[in-house]
Amino acid sequence: MAEKKNNRKNNKNYDEDYNPKFRRMRKKVCPLCADKNLKLDYKNAEQMKKFTNDKGKILPRRATGACSIHQRDITLAVKRARQIAILPYTQE
Ligand SMILES: [Zn+2]
Repeated sequence: MAEKKNNRKNNKNYDEDYNPKFRRMRKKVCPLCADKNLKLDYKNAEQMKKFTNDKGKILPRRATGACSIHQRDITLAVKRARQIAILPYTQE
């Protein structure tokens, strides 16, 4: 079994492993599912900053790695934080 897997990796014609366009990315684990004790708090500016980019935009799921349920929670929390002026709506 192990030998067969090795052969596949050494085969340069096997495009799925070699074409960078179709390279599979390692599946990210949702940070909120992984740590059950971690609670999203919209008043926690440091935590909220992790889910926004330098322009103040909310990061997409492919960047945060969050599951759909938690991504919705993150979005809501960031929007709340913006409203109480903890996070900026935009930045230069
Ligand atoms: Zn999750």
